[in-house]
Amino acid sequence: MLNKRTVEDLDVRGKKVLVRCDFNVPMNENGEITDDRRIRSAIPTIEYIINNGGKVILMSHLGRPKGEPNPKYSLEPVAKRLSELLNKEVIFAADDNVVGENAKKAVAEMKEGDVVLLQNTRYRKEETKNGEEFAKELASLADLFVNDAFGTAHRAHASNVGVSQHLPSAVGYLVKKEIEVMGKAMSNPERPFVAILGGAKVSDKIGVIENLLDKVDSLLIGGGMMFTFLKAKGYEIGKSLLEEDKIELAKELMKKAEEKGVKLLLPVDTVVAKEFKNDTEFKTVKVEEIPADMMGLDIGEETRKIFAEEILKAKTVVWNGPMGVFEMENFAKGTEAIAEAMAKSDAVTIVGGGDSAAAVEKTGYNDKMTHISTGGGASLEFFEGKTLPGIAAIDDK
Ligand code: AMP
Repeated sequence: MLNKRTVEDLDVRGKKVLVRCDFNVPMNENGEITDDRRIRSAIPTIEYIINNGGKVILMSHLGRPKGEPNPKYSLEPVAKRLSELLNKEVIFAADDNVVGENAKKAVAEMKEGDVVLLQNTRYRKEETKNGEEFAKELASLADLFVNDAFGTAHRAHASNVGVSQHLPSAVGYLVKKEIEVMGKAMSNPERPFVAILGGAKVSDKIGVIENLLDKVDSLLIGGGMMFTFLKAKGYEIGKSLLEEDKIELAKELMKKAEEKGVKLLLPVDTVVAKEFKNDTEFKTVKVEEIPADMMGLDIGEETRKIFAEEILKAKTVVWNGPMGVFEMENFAKGTEAIAEAMAKSDAVTIVGGGDSAAAVEKTGYNDKMTHISTGGGASLEFFEGKTLPGIAAIDDK
């Protein structure tokens, strides 16, 4: 199905293999990694190369150092964590130029099975501009290139797209899994196919809604964006989030759903609050009865039941965006109910990255999902049906 070369199509023995990973992990103020899922996801590709006698040179970005060295965004803590996970030393090539003397020396001294991690690629301003020189410098370190960073696949940067122009290239196991699982859902899903969309704004999800309307059997809408739809249906929504300039669009999307025979489900009740904070007065009301001085911050109990039933009938489920303000305990129950229903279902269950992935982690249902994407923006663009430049740039089979 996947028409790109994978790491298994490369002869890595004795070769230096430059691997772009997504080590853009969340850290606390003390520089400690608070979620290492992305590091763990990179392990299969790294181990494959080690076990087949290759030398592994890893690179990634971390945060936004804006094109200059900044110790706050050093990848050193990642090297440490990766060493623990691999049970093997990962040599950190501290180098403010990323490909400077230190990095070149570390690479020159590598033996088969060694692992070197380069410094944050965004220490160089050419990275996000896909600068030709920087791409060549990176490529000069290695014989082969593997892209295993799904989280940046929707961007054309020097460390994913630029470098692939100068070396034989392939995708790693993580990228392969991401595209295969999500690709199957989008091109040949088992039906019924149900999509659940939430999150703050309609405007961020227009492309996804439009593309999914051609593919799904049911579309369930929650989160802040539901209120623009409810307003479009003529309800009063009090102080809830509203994108005034998207009301017409919401009407059009609902009409399109009807024409295409897609069941578009909007919430029938919502948890409303006096203020946008956890410790405030709140209650559940029907969507027809939202008080003028309150705002909807979650889907209500009846809606959770209806959405769960729809999910349990499905054979394929795709979810992107929380159902409410899940960061606040009192408004996290709708999001938790979706995670729970997906965990119980026998369907292929796919969670888009970003907030929905974080929400699933919080509920502890992560092991029960078929796939949790490591890329928020990238999975969104994938569901929009867009070509991801980081994957398009890789050699075909
Ligand atoms: P997104 O990045 O578009 O997926 O949106 C995620 C954000 O939407 C989260 O931070 C949620 O707190 C927020 N959100 C979800 N539901 C609501 C709501 N009803 N009102 C305001 N914000 C919301």
